[in-house]
Amino acid sequence: AQSSTNDGAINVIHEERNDDFILEDVPHLTNFLPDLPSYPNPLKKSQAYAIVKRTFVSPEDVVAQKIVVQKDSPRGLHFRRAGPREKVYFKSEEVRACIVTCGGLCPGINTVIREIVCGLNNMYGVDEILGIQGGYRGFYSKNTIQLTPKSVNDIHKRGGTFLQTSRGGHDTNKIVDNIQDRGINQVYIIGGDGTQKGAAAISKEVERRGLKVAVAGIPKTIDNDIAVIDKSFGFDTAVEEAQRAINAAHVEVNSVENGVGIVKLMGRYSGFIAMHATLASRDVDCCLIPESPFYLEGQGGLFEFVEQRLKENGHVVLVLAEGAGQEYVAKGWHAADEKDASGNRLLLDSGLWLTQKIKAFPDFPGSFHKFPEDDSRYEIYRDPTYMIRAIPSNASDNIYCTLLAQNAVHGAMAGYTGFTVGPVNSRHAYIPISQVTETQNTVKLTDRMWARLLSSTNQPSFLSSEVVQERVDRQIIDEIHNNKITSI
Ligand code: ATP
Ligand code: MG
Repeated sequence: AQSSTNDGAINVIHEERNDDFILEDVPHLTNFLPDLPSYPNPLKKSQAYAIVKRTFVSPEDVVAQKIVVQKDSPRGLHFRRAGPREKVYFKSEEVRACIVTCGGLCPGINTVIREIVCGLNNMYGVDEILGIQGGYRGFYSKNTIQLTPKSVNDIHKRGGTFLQTSRGGHDTNKIVDNIQDRGINQVYIIGGDGTQKGAAAISKEVERRGLKVAVAGIPKTIDNDIAVIDKSFGFDTAVEEAQRAINAAHVEVNSVENGVGIVKLMGRYSGFIAMHATLASRDVDCCLIPESPFYLEGQGGLFEFVEQRLKENGHVVLVLAEGAGQEYVAKGWHAADEKDASGNRLLLDSGLWLTQKIKAFPDFPGSFHKFPEDDSRYEIYRDPTYMIRAIPSNASDNIYCTLLAQNAVHGAMAGYTGFTVGPVNSRHAYIPISQVTETQNTVKLTDRMWARLLSSTNQPSFLSSEVVQERVDRQIIDEIHNNKITSI
């Protein structure tokens, strides 16, 4: 393997490291159920795979988390490569699978449900697939529905979740009792960070009871804040739809004198959607994300920037991720302690806060001072977040969801358990659930992507000024970043 470094020299990456590569060296591999898989994989005889060069993925194949390794630095974690295995753990006719969806909505959930059902049925001949309705609690409080390729045929064209979802607490023991009572041996769990923690607990309890039940998680987060994996499903769709909202705001403020448009996008802790939508749209003057502190007044502050852009262009568009500026809102409104049913702290509406601040700022030449307050034509705050969450997934997410679902099915059939699926450096892998719940993926201000955004918008970085030290109360920021905050 060769790669060129910045100074143009060709640098051979340490090939000798491959020689001493042994699996024991890479502990982050997902668990097997007790006993080894012993049945031949039915895909061997499937027409679909008849001409595939290498039908099966070797259980020894691993995917490296670090793709660029500096000289003498550790190689980093490795995960098992996802895909069909030559030997499977379950006989197709003995599989009794179930699917559950938990947490908030995200484009693509229905595609994942559909493709698990079709994957199990078309690839492995599994007929017994139950839909658990209404999230985790549905295991013991609602009727299940039988899922067939026919019953899920069209669901990918709809937003939301075909199985319904819920937030709020659940009883792991009752769920595992229910899994046992129904004779379920494969559990597919689609949901966010909370859901995956729940899945880890279910898988532990299953193990404790010595049950031969595979637990597979499919990580869901519209914010793209799941650690380890390259990108979460629904993210592309969200960015595309966010662009449309930005475009609409831009058209509006462009049509008036001194229009200021504020668009709030998803991103509780991670500004990926705001960052990518800004980079994609080019209509954004300034993008504010939770990871990057900013300040309003004074030299180099947001107000100065807005005023300057208004003078130059006659309009300005600001994009704000929902977690951005929470430290100010919390300070001003003293109401940051509300929690949702799952115990996540509720976010305050920083978009509304920023809009009010901009309206109130005395020196603006902005349109607010030119029109009477009750003139709704010049409302400039847009919150498209719930609209974005509810749409069906786009083409690329649909394909991505198919890969996630099929790989989850291959993994469970092979007897892996307590794992999630996802691409790591563009190769799909099986990742132990704990790896994706331990940390959150956030925009690294020190990475190149944020620098690309700053160069593209030419906005201030808000980092150099002492005002940041003065105005941003670190304690509040830390508190916000260490607590689970959500909006529902
Ligand atoms: P998102 O936040 O992306 O919408 P989520 O999966 O994090 O999705 P939550 O409402 O937090 O959404 O949780 C969904 C389900 O997971 C709930 O039924 C809840 O009981 C369970 N859950 C949440 N947090 C935990 C946890 N720490 N441990 C075990 N289960 C949890
Ligand atoms: Mg969550």
